[in-house]
Amino acid sequence: MSTDGEIAVVRARENNLREVSLRIPKRGITVFTGVSGSGKSSLVFDTIAAEAQRQLNETFTAFQRGFLPQYGRPDADALENLSAAIVVDQKRLGGNSRSTVGTITDIAPLLRLLLSRGGAPHHGAAHAYSFNDPLGMCPACEGIGRTTEIDLDALVDRSLSLNGGAIQHPDFGVGKWFWDTLAGSGLFDNDKPLRDWTDVEWRTLLRGGDALGPTPKGYEGLLDRFTRVYVRKDTADMAERNRRIFLRFVTAATCGRCEGSRYNDGVRASRVGGHSIADLSAMEATELLALLPTLATPDTGPVVASLVDRVGDLVAIGLGYLSLDRETTSLSGGESQRIKMVRHLSSSLTDMLYIFDEPSIGLHARDVHRLNDLLRKLRDKGNTVLVVEHDPDVVAVADHVVDMGPGAGEHGGQVVHQGTPQTLAAADTVTGRELRRRAPVRQESRTPTGRLVVRDAARHNLRDVTVSVPTGVVTAVTGVAGSGKSTLVAAFLEQYPEAVVVDQSAVGANRRSSPVTYTGMLDGIRRLFARAGGVSASLFSFNSAGACPGCQGMGVVWTDLAFMDGVRTPCEECGGRRFREEVRRHTLRGRSIDQVLGMTAREAADFFTEPALHTAARAMVDVGLDYLRLGQPLSTLSGGECQRLKLATNLHREGSVYVLDEPTTGLHMADVGRLLGIVDRLVAAGNTVLLIEHNLEVIKQADWIIDMGPEGGSRGGRVLFEGTPKQLLASPDSHTAEFLRRGEA
Ligand code: ADP
Ligand code: ADP
Ligand code: ZN
Ligand code: ZN
Repeated sequence: MSTDGEIAVVRARENNLREVSLRIPKRGITVFTGVSGSGKSSLVFDTIAAEAQRQLNETFTAFQRGFLPQYGRPDADALENLSAAIVVDQKRLGGNSRSTVGTITDIAPLLRLLLSRGGAPHHGAAHAYSFNDPLGMCPACEGIGRTTEIDLDALVDRSLSLNGGAIQHPDFGVGKWFWDTLAGSGLFDNDKPLRDWTDVEWRTLLRGGDALGPTPKGYEGLLDRFTRVYVRKDTADMAERNRRIFLRFVTAATCGRCEGSRYNDGVRASRVGGHSIADLSAMEATELLALLPTLATPDTGPVVASLVDRVGDLVAIGLGYLSLDRETTSLSGGESQRIKMVRHLSSSLTDMLYIFDEPSIGLHARDVHRLNDLLRKLRDKGNTVLVVEHDPDVVAVADHVVDMGPGAGEHGGQVVHQGTPQTLAAADTVTGRELRRRAPVRQESRTPTGRLVVRDAARHNLRDVTVSVPTGVVTAVTGVAGSGKSTLVAAFLEQYPEAVVVDQSAVGANRRSSPVTYTGMLDGIRRLFARAGGVSASLFSFNSAGACPGCQGMGVVWTDLAFMDGVRTPCEECGGRRFREEVRRHTLRGRSIDQVLGMTAREAADFFTEPALHTAARAMVDVGLDYLRLGQPLSTLSGGECQRLKLATNLHREGSVYVLDEPTTGLHMADVGRLLGIVDRLVAAGNTVLLIEHNLEVIKQADWIIDMGPEGGSRGGRVLFEGTPKQLLASPDSHTAEFLRRGEA
């Protein structure tokens, strides 16, 4: 039924989709718009990408498939003409301390090749220039660039005895296995404070040895064990809790031997054009790109040309302020997504299906055209590009637009407009109307109640920045990517640690967490059920005998996969209903516990008249999460949804300082208005709001603006402007001002 030039979706029904049928041109850019919860992800990720992935897996043998995630067939009558799909999302790259911008983009191997062709004195073949290879790594830090010193005074409290808990690391505490081996060794007086110990006792504690008498089999000194179990591990591989504990007992210092470069002396002595591989890796990409052509010789010409291509892509996407030696663990979600993009740009694959999730995140209005250039470049290589996006400047790049709606959740799930950016801008849909609307810059800023000063902030690229953040109003920190916004806000948080951070990091400690547990609603709901049925409230708890034994109340069963994200399948025992049948028979105003957990926030706000429950559900509606179901696992929420859930649970505070990092992430233009309403309410209740934002609608409505720049990296780090949005309009040299003026025209 479809031509080869189109992807055909026939009657798709995933999540809220209502029998959606549509055709998507291949080898073009299609942008999907619509309010949050309208069904964009259900169509693009859960239907199209999932089926493309599943069809690809079918091409493997049954044996190979055994190692791959089992994708269920998405709920649709048919999907035709798909290509192999690559999803370029905002998940942070992560990795470990050995993973850098250079290694992840495959630019590092090219640099090694450059040095092995043109470096003098010559150090070896190309891999000998790698800090991950024994031939190239610094022997002192083994290629990590940092050394870790154990802080003995933190690890051991010498005023205490072994029995009194002298060893401070909780895993070595009284009664723990390692403590038993020390205290049970018979070598020490377990009640004597450590400061009264002899040198020999002290040495035996730390390093073992037979000076005090033969040590028992398996005995290991405290320092040796601590080094082996913790110091030798990469902190990037530790669980968050363990890392935080570990960092209390060590101080990390730049490796003195290699000066943090990770390379050994031989590698660092080898130079091309006067620069070692360590020098080249430490340069910002922009500087490196300017230098590269001067390094070309007959021997190195082809390598230099490839390097210019790759490094050029990094700069083109707006990451010119990053250096190749930057660890991937320190990159933000938006930076991670753009790096992944660079990787795909250099790939020679064609006829792929590339799928992007809000690629404009973290990009200043000035740089959105760069993103558009790269999307076009991917298309022009013969690929099909699908983009879920809210930014009107990205929508404008589309060859084809698909607008979902009309509302969210059960009020959405339909295609309400298909056409071009021009026809969408004229359409009578929420998106169309928003595209035509232009809000003015705030004329009257609210009066601050005081100010919080950040003094002499100098981390990363900040140049002794001192700024004041007015209290009782909304301040937006603006500036191009890499200009120093996050670093400035981090400095603010160091000086005012009581501030409430509402960011996009994941919420929920375990897989049973859902909005109903996170907001604390479940306790109240359990009590109501218990009172109505004359039974114990614990019956309705996920970790009680009342929960389905097949899934422990999760409704789904998780299969962990070693190298990939886990896979979720509905629980067969309860059919996703989470509780045993006898528990489900209890009702509250006609609804069973599983039905209540299946309610959306909006339904719950109507259903519950009890003040605490009504308020909690209402707060979710207010932050634009009206479509979210109370029992939906938090692990399925996007970053933007997590952030709004945190905001909802914090709304009732007063006199606090809120720090929001790009709160418009995942929000449609229409939802941004709602977010601004919440921010206004926070301020009206006496709170202070400090936010990092690129969205011009939010910037226009702030009371105060701190604009950073002028550029990213070493060419940024200064405060360009402090004042009201109205004053900013008149500022001559700020990129932000320029785009605000365009919006006013
Ligand atoms: P959008 O991408 O437009 O924000 P989604 O496709 O994520 O919208 O969501 C559409 C609807 O489907 C929403 O009501 C959402 O709560 C629901 N939904 C999405 N994912 C799931 C899921 N894994 N389980 C249950 N409901 C879901
Ligand atoms: P913004 O928030 O405006 O995008 P950042 O504050 O993240 O900017 O970055 C400012 C500068 O500091 C950039 O040059 C960036 O590369 C550098 N930087 C940020 N985080 C780190 C880090 N963890 N390690 C090294 N440099 C960093
Ligand atoms: Zn070193
Ligand atoms: Zn179950």
